[in-house]
Amino acid sequence: MTALPIPNVTLSNGTEIPQLGLGVFLVEPGETERIVSDALEAGYRHIDTASYYRNEAEVGRALASSGIDRDEIFVTTKLWNTDQPRPREAFEESLDRLGLDRVDLYLIHWPQPERGEALGAWRSLIGIAESGRASAVGVSNFEIEHLAELIDATGVVPAVNQIELHPLHQRRELAAFCREQGIAVEAWGPLSQGKSDLLERPEVVAAAGAHGKTPAQVVLRWHVQQQRIVFPKTARRERLLENADVFDFALSDAEMAAIDALDEQLGFGPDPRAFNAR
Ligand code: NAD
Repeated sequence: MTALPIPNVTLSNGTEIPQLGLGVFLVEPGETERIVSDALEAGYRHIDTASYYRNEAEVGRALASSGIDRDEIFVTTKLWNTDQPRPREAFEESLDRLGLDRVDLYLIHWPQPERGEALGAWRSLIGIAESGRASAVGVSNFEIEHLAELIDATGVVPAVNQIELHPLHQRRELAAFCREQGIAVEAWGPLSQGKSDLLERPEVVAAAGAHGKTPAQVVLRWHVQQQRIVFPKTARRERLLENADVFDFALSDAEMAAIDALDEQLGFGPDPRAFNAR
């Protein structure tokens, strides 16, 4: 049960988060416990879930049966859209399902700007952090104007913004704003969710060949070399190890620049300014 050699990133409030973890979006509840158990066994210590993923209970069971100290595992979950008017209750329900008395990171999942509920939810998350039951609080899928609203109204800067980000969709302006504000960027869909030919692009394949790594490892290395936090999803044991094995090589400036040049502003997720799934 030895942890993998994955470095921590220090969030603005001092909380340490393993830079690489496992995401469990679209992992069937029936599969989740096995995958999370495999990941913990392989040395992962950071799990990203959400109430929307309907697998918090299975994540919690894997955590409980792992025998690993709670303090050694970083758990993130998220407040779903319909729960923005009732954040405290929804947070308690997530804790119950996870079987935990605190999480490490709690995020507002989407801004839903036309509903105007995110600011109230953010005030509640600040209270949850003050109570110590979330080590850090932040947001997901927030654009600059959504972040600015929270910061201007409360003076409390989210610790992280979890956004779709990969070489084909680099979100440069938003990432720069986050950097200026001290908001750590978590890249969801770091491999573009398997929805593109990213892993076959010559720039990625060439770097993989040069370092004796796989294209997925090159893309993950491109993220971590920019201090981003990632949690690529896989249901396959061999890929768990492959995806975490990105801390023993470095892409050159030229290799980084070649991947930087792949930006097509091609996102696969919904537009955060309009997304309002219930
Ligand atoms: P991802 O980019 O991690 O892609 C996952 C897919 O990539 C897998 O299904 C598999 O097909 C492929 N893959 C994984 N490892 C590979 C490898 N080594 N070689 C080749 N292909 C490989 O996309 P994701 O799962 O959507 O994103 C990761 C996590 O981000 C999610 O599980 C979830 O925790 C989080 N997420 C958050 C939001 C949000 O709105 N906050 C949205 C989507 C995902």
